Amino acid sequence: KPGLYLVGTPIGNLEDITLRALRVLKSADVILSEDTRHSWKLLHHYNIRTPLLSYHKFNESQREQRVLRRLKEGEIVVLISDAGTPGISDPGAELAKLCVDENIPVIPIPGPCAVVAALSASGLDTDEFTFVGFLSKHGPSRRERLTASANEARTQIFYVPPHKFSQFLEESSLLFGDSRRCVMAREMTKIHEEFWRGTLGEAKVRFLNQQPKGEMTLLIEGRANSLVETPSEDQLEHELGELISH
Ligand code: SAM
Repeated sequence: KPGLYLVGTPIGNLEDITLRALRVLKSADVILSEDTRHSWKLLHHYNIRTPLLSYHKFNESQREQRVLRRLKEGEIVVLISDAGTPGISDPGAELAKLCVDENIPVIPIPGPCAVVAALSASGLDTDEFTFVGFLSKHGPSRRERLTASANEARTQIFYVPPHKFSQFLEESSLLFGDSRRCVMAREMTKIHEEFWRGTLGEAKVRFLNQQPKGEMTLLIEGRANSLVETPSEDQLEHELGELISH
């Protein structure tokens, strides 16, 4: 069926790709790829010879009209990113929006996604979470975003560039407090996969002079509900007493 297929690809281990993803990649007319050299490795591994067209944040807007035209002509267009799910801190969302506006089918082929993999193995609360992704680099918007996160009861999830990790821990321990539990999910599905668990204070000390290498997803537990002021038994009794005596 023609349309835009958003295909999830591995976040490390090449085996993490679904049979359906492989079939769709093989039968597509064109594969839009964030980095064609990077994607070539995956496609070569699975012997897929579908033509590749580069599609990244710098040529996204130029490419859109050309891609839309091909879609309207009834082609099967696949979009993949360097890793994981397209559109999630990666190009794709804009094209999906345009297709939706033009009534062109958008079909997800689910696969790996770092945020979901990290959360599921984190040991933190998974019922409700906020995916923050990458923070803006500087300025008040970065501080505001972190402050808002620090006040949320839901698990908070960040994508952190490795060279920013220590700085991120400094900032977040200040705003979330040293005792807040966190999980660093590093290099998931790869040889050096590591889940480091501890408090933000401990993390700050542990990683101060030793920036961890590789790709990192950081999860911070939500603000404890106990921080929300609830009246004590004594207070309750007192207030009830007042109500009754009136
Ligand atoms: N679209 C991707 C997805 O679905 O996960 C995310 C792309 S984003 C540009 C890349 C960021 O995702 C990395 O900087 C890191 O924070 C996180 N990430 C990707 N692969 C990872 C892995 N194997 N282990 C831990 N985090 C990873």
